[in-house]
Amino acid sequence: MTTINRNSICTTCGTKFPYNERVPALCPICNDDRQFINPDGQRWTSEEDLEKCHAVRIRKISDRLHYLTVRPSFAIGQRAFLALSPGGNILWDCIPLLDEATKEFIYSKGGLKAIAFSHPHFYSNMNEWAAEFNCPVYIHENDKPWIFNRGPNVKLWGGDGKPLWDDLELVHVGGHFPGSSMLRIGSFSPGGAMLCGDSLYISRSLRHTAVMFSYPNSIPLLKEEFAAFYEKCAKLKFDTLYGATFEGQDLEGNAYAVFARSMNRYKSIYGL
Ligand SMILES: [Zn+2]
Ligand SMILES: [Zn+2]
Repeated sequence: MTTINRNSICTTCGTKFPYNERVPALCPICNDDRQFINPDGQRWTSEEDLEKCHAVRIRKISDRLHYLTVRPSFAIGQRAFLALSPGGNILWDCIPLLDEATKEFIYSKGGLKAIAFSHPHFYSNMNEWAAEFNCPVYIHENDKPWIFNRGPNVKLWGGDGKPLWDDLELVHVGGHFPGSSMLRIGSFSPGGAMLCGDSLYISRSLRHTAVMFSYPNSIPLLKEEFAAFYEKCAKLKFDTLYGATFEGQDLEGNAYAVFARSMNRYKSIYGL
């Protein structure tokens, strides 16, 4: 069954499908082992309805780093990051609501030079954000099959890394999704900071990091997938990680040590 209406945002993942086209019977992002269909059945909403009872909350981590969440929590409950840099600002990942107060805040900081994504769970209404700030949206080419609403601003990138400007660099690590990536900003901490999306999951205790095919369904990576992820990730230089899925998911200063200890457990389980 398909329907045509203005409700094109999946309430479980926040992905916005093309407005006023037939929405799929089931959201393909959620109807995948890395997500789940709403137990009450597929539900859709619109930006107008979302804005009636939700707002964007912006919190400061440092002078150059803020995060944005939708409150009350909606969809995955993810946070997007606004990183400020002399050569231009970047939005890392996205949230499904862009309200007037948020536009004003971002313009007051100089607007956006780009939006970039860790992986498909956070695409949200990316085309609206890109149109508002007239900027490109960088997505790793390995995740092209998961782009169901490709606007004109979407730019695919490939390979292991993509330097942006200043000391901002997109880094491909794979694992959770074939195109899973992180944003490295060297100057955000003495040893370098990574905005990691779901490419690494920082635990609630802040004492462990995990990498999985599916976090909500607890499905591990295959051995080869983990080995490929680890080879790339272990080479990165960082002492700070900022995660995407809950507030306070920050490891500042000791992140590489926590990562290395956690990965040693993975390596022994996988026999690597
Ligand atoms: Zn969905
Ligand atoms: Zn994810």
